Amino acid sequence: MKTQQFVVIGLGRFGSSLALQLVDMGCEVLGIDRNEDVVDSMSELLTHTVVADATDEDSLRSLGIRNFDCGIVAIGDDIQVSILTTILLKELGVKKVVAKAISVLHGRALEKLGVDRVIYPERDMGIRVAHQLVTPNLLDYLELSKEYSIVELNVPACLNGKTLSELNARTRFGCSIVALHTANGILIAPTAMDRLKADDIMVIIGSNDNIARFEDEVV
Ligand code: ADP
Repeated sequence: MKTQQFVVIGLGRFGSSLALQLVDMGCEVLGIDRNEDVVDSMSELLTHTVVADATDEDSLRSLGIRNFDCGIVAIGDDIQVSILTTILLKELGVKKVVAKAISVLHGRALEKLGVDRVIYPERDMGIRVAHQLVTPNLLDYLELSKEYSIVELNVPACLNGKTLSELNARTRFGCSIVALHTANGILIAPTAMDRLKADDIMVIIGSNDNIARFEDEVV
């Protein structure tokens, strides 16, 4: 598969963390920031880094921005710069544009500009941490839509040795266990006869209401 190429504009806390993770995952990343110190601190860690003002159309054009698979506008605090940069990325023809928003109104403006995805890092992290705090066995949580989610839960001691058929999650709670992380690796689409082991991890898909019932009654 071709190496995916990303351009991350704004190497603040969110942008730098995202860019580093993309590099870790084998992607090529061009990081852009107008702050020279910020760019210096990232220059050894990303594939390419450039000091540039993201609202300068000529700079973006000369960097060949349009050839990247995805452009991420990671500037949040300065909404004007975020919006101008997003407009430029769209006009320059970047295939996929993702932008960070710091408020609902900011997000709505970005959506109106036609970005492919708006990210609300603080809001999403707040939701995620709240779920983890309320459900101690919850390891991770991914919202698929307003109604449906995927969660990762530790198998509690009370389910140790039980088969999925005995747990009967689909009939009792309307949730499906779609994978198990075990000491021997990940088991995708486990069968009714597969057994749960305390501290393995169950990956469960379902409506939020049904997952909440499962968490209340089982975990
Ligand atoms: P975070 O909250 O994730 O740290 P910020 O919005 O505070 O995000 O930081 C965004 C980064 O974007 C900063 O490093 C800042 O130097 C950079 N930045 C702001 N304006 C521009 C611009 N016009 N061009 C390039 N980089 C910019």
